[in-house]
Amino acid sequence: MATSINSGDTHRKPRTIMEPFKIKVVDDLPFPTRERREANLLEAGYNLFLVKAREVTFDFLTDSGTTAMSAQQWGAMMVADESYAGSKSYEKFEKVVKDLTGYQYLIPTHQGRAAERLLFSARLKPGMKIPSNNHFDTTRANIEQMGAEAVDLVIEEGKNPASTHPFKGNIDLVKLDEFCRLNRDVIPLGMLTITNNTGGGQPVSLENIRGASAIYRKHQIPFILDACRFAENSYFVKEREPGQNERTVKDIAKETFGLADGCMMSAKKDALVNIGGFIALKANDWVETLRGLLILTEGFPTYGGLAARDLEAMAVGLEEVLEERYLAYRIAVSRYMAKGLNDLGIPTVQPAGGHAVYVDAKAFLPKIPSEQYPGQALVVEFYRTLGIRSCEIGSVMFGSWANGKFQPSAMELVRLAFPRRVYTQSHFDYIIEGMEEVVANKSQIRGLKMVHTPPFLRHFTARFDLA
Ligand SMILES: *Cc1c(COP(=O)(O)O)cnc(C)c1O
Repeated sequence: MATSINSGDTHRKPRTIMEPFKIKVVDDLPFPTRERREANLLEAGYNLFLVKAREVTFDFLTDSGTTAMSAQQWGAMMVADESYAGSKSYEKFEKVVKDLTGYQYLIPTHQGRAAERLLFSARLKPGMKIPSNNHFDTTRANIEQMGAEAVDLVIEEGKNPASTHPFKGNIDLVKLDEFCRLNRDVIPLGMLTITNNTGGGQPVSLENIRGASAIYRKHQIPFILDACRFAENSYFVKEREPGQNERTVKDIAKETFGLADGCMMSAKKDALVNIGGFIALKANDWVETLRGLLILTEGFPTYGGLAARDLEAMAVGLEEVLEERYLAYRIAVSRYMAKGLNDLGIPTVQPAGGHAVYVDAKAFLPKIPSEQYPGQALVVEFYRTLGIRSCEIGSVMFGSWANGKFQPSAMELVRLAFPRRVYTQSHFDYIIEGMEEVVANKSQIRGLKMVHTPPFLRHFTARFDLA
């Protein structure tokens, strides 16, 4: 029987979601006044990226690198061996990664995108194509930087926000097989992102990973996982996939890694650290080239752009993240938030993902047209009312003007991404309570116009005014 969310008892399933840890170090929760929040919005041109963190009560901008580390992690950092070459800390980190993944070759990097840049600059040439369920934005950018093409083959349900398919991160195996057959010669490697970031961390089933593995093997294409949220994915498999409930999450994670030829990982997610990443590989064919590039831009192969203390923190984090009581609580948070919002009439992408909730701003604010950025309007309202910082994923990010006509993004979403082990259940209850005010004020929420449009990655620095 599955461990119940909190108690670990098998006879009782408590309704209360409880943090499975106690708190040893605390940090101030900023409470800027409402006038101050209004002033901050004006000063930042209604762009929350331009608001200072000390002016934010609940920071849901990202789950990346925002984890609270454990006493064990901090303790390990204090005993780290900072030797330039072959440190004890590297040995410890290597042992943990080998045990978890079964991969023999490890290349530490300072974060996920450094791993991407190394692997892609070693393997990709212009005109090549890399299939995946959905490529994360830095992954896509690093592929395109090499003149290659990032191809998304997620199942149809994965593109439909209302679909309640339990594994919306699955890749379409029929399309993948056909794609590999037609493009075999220009596919240097195939990928799968677990969980799929799109939609807030939608899981990929083990059956689907097995299927993708078999297809890549049939076409002799190396299979590389983007494994940032491997533990959250494995927990979803245990919870949702027929026949998987009796297994440990660690066992599911090991099988997952075993089905691929290697992985890239941003440790800022499921390694529970603030900085770090790695590439791990089953075979050594690419290793010499990768280590050569690593030395050129990141550092010696046994530290790769990190301090040994970061390797220690990753080694501990990679084991802690597989504690099932932690994962049960982690997954419960986004589910609880989605349900709380839905009960108030705030629609979200279904079902809730592992690390975030995506609010459907177009459905919630139907009177605000896409060219007035309903997602951004809602981001502003969440900050104004509750001091929440969230991120628009809609027409601010993806919209454009062509021949005097606005081309909106397909969806107008607002992402609330939850840092790991940072906010408590009462914070989430407080937020849901405060959301009643957002709903009550819905008709007052105004659209925005972009008054400063930077040429690249404009969502970071754009400025707005009320429309
Ligand atoms: C965060 C992330 C990356 C990039 O990692 P960074 O550590 O932010 O550079 C790559 N893929 C996925 C799926 C991610 O979530």
